[in-house]
Amino acid sequence: MPLELRPNCECCDRDLPPDSMAARICSFECTFCAVCADGVLGGRCPNCGGELLRRPIRPAEKLARFPASAVRTVKADGCAPT
Ligand SMILES: [Zn+2]
Ligand SMILES: [Zn+2]
Repeated sequence: MPLELRPNCECCDRDLPPDSMAARICSFECTFCAVCADGVLGGRCPNCGGELLRRPIRPAEKLARFPASAVRTVKADGCAPT
């Protein structure tokens, strides 16, 4: 199973296209933008407590065969400051 490339930040719903250098992801593929991950989240996934690291860019030729997810996941209450 290739990594699920989700299209948005779970906190602020900002778009995170597959080639975005601002996408951060945890080991469960929870996806956040750099602003939320480095800011309010302090580098930790609010769902599982794991590390948030930069999501690797999938090469364009691979995206055709393994496309990014189109399913938007957003936390109901956003990410409250801790
Ligand atoms: Zn965000
Ligand atoms: Zn997580």
